[in-house]
Amino acid sequence: MTSLASKERILVVGNGMVGHHFVEQLHQANENAQITVLCGESRLAYDRVHLSSYFSGASAEDLALTDAATYTEWGVNFVTNAMVTDILRDEKKVLTSEGQAYVYDKLILATGSYPFVPPIPGNNQPHCLVYRTIDDLEAIEASARESKTGVVVGGGLLGLEAANALKEAGLDTHVVEFAPQLMAVQLDVTGGQVLKDKIEGLGVTVHTQKATQVIESGEQARYRMVFADDTYLETDMILFSAGIRPSDQLGKKANLALGERGGIVIDDSCLTSDPDIYAIGECALWQNRIFGLVAPGYTMARAAVSHLTGGDTRFSGADMSTKLKLMGVEVGSIGDAHERTEGAQSYTYFNQPEGVYKKLVVDAEQKQVLGAVLVGDTSDYDTLLQYALNGIELPEQPESLILPSSDAAPALGADALPDTATICSCHNVAKSDIVTAIDGGCCSLGDVKGATKASTGCGGCTALLKNVVDSELEKRGVEVSKAICEHFNYTRQELFHIVKVNGITSFEQLLEGHGKGLGCEICKPAVGSILASVYNDYILKQEHLPLQDTNDIYLGNMQKDGTYSIVPRVAGGEITPEKLILLGEVAKQYNLYTKITGGQRIDLFGARVEQLPEIWETLVAGGFETGHAYAKALRTVKSCVGSTWCRYGVQDSVKTAIDLENRYKGLRAPHKIKFAVSGCTRECAEAQSKDIGVIATENGWNLYVCGNGGMKPRHGDLFATDLDTETLVRYIDRVLMFYVRTADRLQRTSVWMDNLEGGLAYLQDVVINDSLNLNDELEAQMNTLVANYQCEWKTTIEDEASRKRFRQFVNSKAADANIQFVEERGQVRPATEMEKKLGTNKAIPVDVI
Ligand SMILES: Cc1cc2nc3c(=O)[nH]c(=O)nc-3n(C[C@H](O)[C@H](O)[C@H](O)COP(=O)(O)OP(=O)(O)OC[C@H]3O[C@@H](n4cnc5c(N)ncnc54)[C@H](O)[C@@H]3O)c2cc1C
Ligand code: SF4
Ligand code: SF4
Repeated sequence: MTSLASKERILVVGNGMVGHHFVEQLHQANENAQITVLCGESRLAYDRVHLSSYFSGASAEDLALTDAATYTEWGVNFVTNAMVTDILRDEKKVLTSEGQAYVYDKLILATGSYPFVPPIPGNNQPHCLVYRTIDDLEAIEASARESKTGVVVGGGLLGLEAANALKEAGLDTHVVEFAPQLMAVQLDVTGGQVLKDKIEGLGVTVHTQKATQVIESGEQARYRMVFADDTYLETDMILFSAGIRPSDQLGKKANLALGERGGIVIDDSCLTSDPDIYAIGECALWQNRIFGLVAPGYTMARAAVSHLTGGDTRFSGADMSTKLKLMGVEVGSIGDAHERTEGAQSYTYFNQPEGVYKKLVVDAEQKQVLGAVLVGDTSDYDTLLQYALNGIELPEQPESLILPSSDAAPALGADALPDTATICSCHNVAKSDIVTAIDGGCCSLGDVKGATKASTGCGGCTALLKNVVDSELEKRGVEVSKAICEHFNYTRQELFHIVKVNGITSFEQLLEGHGKGLGCEICKPAVGSILASVYNDYILKQEHLPLQDTNDIYLGNMQKDGTYSIVPRVAGGEITPEKLILLGEVAKQYNLYTKITGGQRIDLFGARVEQLPEIWETLVAGGFETGHAYAKALRTVKSCVGSTWCRYGVQDSVKTAIDLENRYKGLRAPHKIKFAVSGCTRECAEAQSKDIGVIATENGWNLYVCGNGGMKPRHGDLFATDLDTETLVRYIDRVLMFYVRTADRLQRTSVWMDNLEGGLAYLQDVVINDSLNLNDELEAQMNTLVANYQCEWKTTIEDEASRKRFRQFVNSKAADANIQFVEERGQVRPATEMEKKLGTNKAIPVDVI
């Protein structure tokens, strides 16, 4: 623990990402530090970088970086809604808008920045918003609900993120940019143009070189934005994202030195012109530069902590390279992207049909990478960044670094990196830190993450970190145990191989020949899933039954009140009126709650376990089959209405979706799998957020793989373009079967691909070029599974012994008295515990049918 005058009161103003990082670092450096945090917002620090994930389902809690309990445990005093208005430097205290005063010995200003709203008349009306805080998101959401069209003012990095949010909210989205191109800071002119084309292809209209003069009432929409060239655009809401300005008002009022264009001037220790006041993060100006990214802010926080505690870490600038995905379009920018260095030269690769543009900027001697621009494909980003950051000498043909699958491109493995190479820039972890952690006893990726925090920020370095850890462990002869559990000394992939090659058909057989002990809740379901993936056998056979999860055992998802859901398959989302009526009739007869799902089918909730077989009997008789909503298997293939009905459609997306769903239904996999098929690039089926996404083109189908929604959304990667339907199916067969064979247990396709050495390119090589000479086998195996498909519910209701298992209590036919419903919006829902307890509620008694 380092020194800090024990009585020194540290006062932190602002609890954004950087303010919080400072608190965390100082607490780590000195557990007894007396820290008080004044937080201008109503909540403690949250992850602003991933703010957009709020629109794809992340809650404010998911974004939280800390909570009251943690700060309390650390002994940190904190006050929310505490906006500081003045610093009284002579008295060493600050005042808040509520009139409270807080004294300090050392003051840390971490007040961040605020969105710049151009001074356009009419900019302060309702539905004219900014995009910076969780409160802003709530306002945007509310406004979007009352809007059809949305405009983002500003075509920079944040503006495009904001546009994505509006698009996701279903608005007709426009971006209005003053400059002639998008992302002018990070991209060159061609890169900006390629990005614009791609984004417009996704349905967002981009207007460049437009200076808004006034925002007035509109005729077709709420507002009309009138531009300097006398054109106009009508919109219902406007999001300003035209850059940020440092929140330096406190510094200004207190006469701290400020930059000409704002920002509180700091030195290398992050001290302001007052030796007792530090400034860190986006409010701070270092060598006339404001750093609008989180990693430099974190570095400043560490420098300030170091200075306070007598250390010698100093802030010496930061790399501003960025890699991101904007609406599924990969964009990367490294160092001197604009070739401003004297004598700089460049190489470019431009594949216009595929929308891939890469530029490599090198020094006059062609020895060093100075910068790069990547649009449409950032697979070279990590390598180029390491070249640039570590001054690694360029290969003889520098262009090989950006040319597609060139043999001349030298692989820059973990070993080629110098010890000083920065692996995680968020937490400033160098390769040498990782080596030290491993020498200090860390023997897994998780250990190293815990010890160094590498890859716990934006996560961009995860793959590189894993390479370095694996390579270092291997060098030390440490065998990293990849065993699935203590009963089998094999990975899931190896177990799959053993089952298949040896024709093993039961868990007992596998345990006897290749495992030990009795098995556990990890290996049993994993082996159950492998057996199902290899043979597509009836999973409720007596020998397989003990291997199944609760949901699989009852072929339905158990809900919070102990009832089950019933989800029949509705392939491609297409359903006849007769089937709709049948679902309604069943729901009425059994008093089930009905809900249309995101996967375009209808869930029926509230069935008791003993009701399941007879409900399914009716459904199967009406032509339904199980939807596998309970299984780690193919769930749904969502589709848009496609060329049959839609005037934009170029292919019959519904037919393809139905065919795909019928082909892969029942395919058991390491995790659930979702598909979607869109009839044109407008992408109404959101195919890019699925494990397998198919988007129609004039010439066939574009295939995207390994996307997902959920907690950590990830866009699928474009895998192959303009495929005919037969090739499309063959590629999907291969990708899925390769995934089923090689993924870890409970690993989604996205994580699986990220962990494949070589990632997307490797997978393409396996599937398209048959680099492993495996494709015939993969296809044959898929064909076997397809041929062996059975509806598990049909098999179950036809087998008396299986039916008997569906009872609440094994020895009784009685229903569970605990299950009670109340009525809400014309349907049932589970009664809350309080409603059950009070007994006065409208609880609907559940009859035994
Ligand atoms: C949508 C979005 C996406 C982004 N994406 C990325 C990305 O991909 N990568 C990246 O590196 N960066 C990204 N950023 C930028 C990143 O979020 C910022 O660099 C980072 O949050 C800066 O942290 P900070 O603590 O300096 O400021 P902030 O996070 O802005 O925090 C400052 C805090 O101080 C409070 N405050 C201000 N004045 C006062 C006062 N007088 N009294 C009390 N409290 C006060 C504010 O209310 C705020 O809570 C993104 C930002 C946004 C908005
Ligand atoms: S976690 Fe970290 S932030 Fe992020 S650099 Fe590493 S990868 Fe980036
Ligand atoms: S994606 Fe489908 S519904 Fe949307 S516009 Fe294209 S064809 Fe029409």
